[in-house]
Amino acid sequence: MGNVDLHLHTTASDGVMTPSKIVNYAKSRGLAAIAITDHDTIEGLEEGLAEGERIGFEVIPGIEISAQHSPGSMHLLGFFIDIHHPLLAERLEYLQRARAERNPKIVEKLNKLGIDISFDEVLKVSGGGQVGRPHFAQVLLEKGYVRSFQEAFERFLKKGAPAYVEKMRFSPEESIHFISEARGVAVLAHPNTLQVNGYSELESLILRLVGNGLRGIEVYYPEHSAAEVAQYEALAEKHGLLITGGTDYHGIEKNGLDVGVGRGDMNLPYSIVENLKAVRQPPPRQNSRKTMMSR
Ligand code: AMP
Ligand code: ZN
Ligand code: FE
Ligand code: FE
Repeated sequence: MGNVDLHLHTTASDGVMTPSKIVNYAKSRGLAAIAITDHDTIEGLEEGLAEGERIGFEVIPGIEISAQHSPGSMHLLGFFIDIHHPLLAERLEYLQRARAERNPKIVEKLNKLGIDISFDEVLKVSGGGQVGRPHFAQVLLEKGYVRSFQEAFERFLKKGAPAYVEKMRFSPEESIHFISEARGVAVLAHPNTLQVNGYSELESLILRLVGNGLRGIEVYYPEHSAAEVAQYEALAEKHGLLITGGTDYHGIEKNGLDVGVGRGDMNLPYSIVENLKAVRQPPPRQNSRKTMMSR
């Protein structure tokens, strides 16, 4: 059985491959399954799932929610979500509106810093999906304001930088709640971006989230050091949490990163998917009540 990659972005958010393309690419690289986990949107899932069916490749419907957290950032993954769930749809609409309000403000801030950039230019590089900061970074790079994608974030776009604009997010508890309501398995993404102080603070944060329905930790991730991986593995084991992993491939910014293998050292067995499947909530049985009563 081939390996898996449970953290991938498509053009529905800030990735460069369409859902169909990334599904075909993953299959061609010999993977056994992927999860599509776009930021705050499920717009790519119908296409990705259909393409998976068409070519005989397992695609897990996923999502990556940006939750309220400070000083770092907290992302929560949801695996096996029901893409037709009404509460999920409502929460995601809210997050889309928050982005729509934020984006023009970023343009404004950049303009005030003397940068000639319009929202139309950003829309053009976004490829029709949801607009995110990486698209701003791309325009800044293409217009020669920065020499690298990373520089665009460092100088302008990252939290605390002069063109950063806060957007509305749901609390971690609420995010886990609506992921779980939509029958998703909630997993804490890349804990190293949380910027918590040491093991015990991380442990109490994770325990708080577990109390709210968190089921796992994304342990294997290209930006995690060996020490971090060991720490997150230990935490998962100690508290009976699932372990997941993925490359967070977007296709633009992280040079040398590839689907399935990261920077060449990732090796995620299919058992990760089996473990997720073992805890996922089964779809509600149609007419189960009627069946029971007729017995
Ligand atoms: P947004 O959803 O618009 O807030 O953008 C979030 C995305 O921007 C993340 O998923 C990353 O792909 C990228 N990003 C955020 N911070 C940085 C950073 N400091 N350096 C490079 N990319 C970043
Ligand atoms: Zn992204
Ligand atoms: Fe993330
Ligand atoms: Fe991601």
